[in-house]
Amino acid sequence: MTSSGSTFKAPAPDLIARFAAIVGADNAIVEAHEQAPYLVEWRDLYMGRTPLILKPATTEEVSRILALANAEGIAVVAQGGNTGLVGGQIPDESGTEILLSLKRLNRVRAIDPAGTTITVEAGVTLHAVQEATRTAGRLFPLSLASEGSATIGGNLATNAGGVAVLSYGTARALTLGLEVVLADGTVWDGLRALKKDNTGYDLRDLFVGSEGTLGIITAATLKLFPEPGERATAFVALPNLEALLPFFQSAEAQAGAALTAFEFMSGPLLEFVLRHIPGTRRPLEAQAPWYVLVEISGASAGRATQILDGFLADALASGLVSDAVVASSLQQAADLWRLRESASEAQKGEGGSIKHDISVPVARIPEFLVAAANVVERVCAGAHPVPFGHFGDGNVHYNISQPEGFDKAAFLAKWDEMARAVHDVVVSLGGSISAEHGIGRLKVDELARVKSPVEIELMRRIKSALDPKGILNPGRVVR
Ligand code: FAD
Ligand code: ZN
Repeated sequence: MTSSGSTFKAPAPDLIARFAAIVGADNAIVEAHEQAPYLVEWRDLYMGRTPLILKPATTEEVSRILALANAEGIAVVAQGGNTGLVGGQIPDESGTEILLSLKRLNRVRAIDPAGTTITVEAGVTLHAVQEATRTAGRLFPLSLASEGSATIGGNLATNAGGVAVLSYGTARALTLGLEVVLADGTVWDGLRALKKDNTGYDLRDLFVGSEGTLGIITAATLKLFPEPGERATAFVALPNLEALLPFFQSAEAQAGAALTAFEFMSGPLLEFVLRHIPGTRRPLEAQAPWYVLVEISGASAGRATQILDGFLADALASGLVSDAVVASSLQQAADLWRLRESASEAQKGEGGSIKHDISVPVARIPEFLVAAANVVERVCAGAHPVPFGHFGDGNVHYNISQPEGFDKAAFLAKWDEMARAVHDVVVSLGGSISAEHGIGRLKVDELARVKSPVEIELMRRIKSALDPKGILNPGRVVR
């Protein structure tokens, strides 16, 4: 894990007072015990230090903070719900970077009368956006296990993925317009609700996925969809790895756009979930090497179930599937989803876990899984790969649990070596070393190693054009 190597100075007490005056003393946190929850990441990989946490409530306050920071050369780290997994939202260990929490920018500004768009501020949680949209009879399809805490600003800054990308796309595809505060405090109002807009360079898409390094997202206009009339959900056991791809292909061929989720997990990982997540129950009688959670959405009642039953019957008959359970109630569907969504949490109960968030072309996932298992065994004999993820997007969370009885710290010390070995397999298959979690601090060096020099140089030029003093999330994404 790399350090960002910040070369910024900490703000002196008089400057801290000027920053605090912008948001009011109640929203400027300097006490260590009040700062603590903002300074540690979900996986405990990063513990930061900061002289000051600022919690602005308006775009104008964000603008004044950045104008001052830019003028004084103070580094600023943006934070939304603090659910990011690559260290981007945690100040580094130098104690110089100030933290800008966007959580108080939490208003829903508008839902358009026809219900096709919603405009929200950056600190609104994803869950709150889903609820506001549901109340209006529409669907905002972005869905992540962290949605109760993760904010829209963080979702867009990381171009979040999740479990509905297969049919609705990533956060980028759901974004129509943005309001962004630039490094010098200038506000760009790009809150357009247009599906078509070919007026030059796409500024919006520069900020989506920029992980707080190019500007602070303060609001967004997002695309809404009709609520499906029905969802049908099944948890399916597969007899072997070879069945995964043909089963996906047959689901896609028969369901087309109605296939809204195709999530997979390894057999041993389901055992971790059943062992460590309270209230979970084995969904199928016999254990299997691989499981898939399939969801079909249909415009009218009965249609989704009909499609699902159809291709499950075919798959059982041809031996691609060894067993399946179709949810007969919303509660049962939620219970099946919980098995999949607890996959990450469950690994905590098995000691140290080295994690990779990679993508390869869908058809090459089986090949990736075989090759990666070989390199894992080479780097740490006895370690357990427990892959899971968004099969239909080619996105594998290739996590590896420590061998039984192995020292946790000694295992985690192998992180960089393991990551390089796994990433080499990914690159050889034409894949990406970050499918949805981003680069942050965790993967800066790996990105520089595997991405082409032309791309890295273009990224550097964009960074220096938009943030000439480099005050925004320094050392993250690109150095
Ligand atoms: P933070 O963690 O606060 O910040 C993330 C990054 O965005 C940082 O670089 C930060 O500086 C920047 N940032 C935050 N807000 C802004 C802003 N307003 N303007 C500019 N930059 C900003 N991710 C997925 O893509 N798919 C998943 O399925 C998924 N599942 C998860 C499950 C769990 C249990 C957890 C803990 C995380 C998961 N994540 C997933 C990762 C994480 O939830 C997402 O990256 C999420 O989008 C981050 O939102 P946040 O508000 O918590 O951002
Ligand atoms: Zn994921």
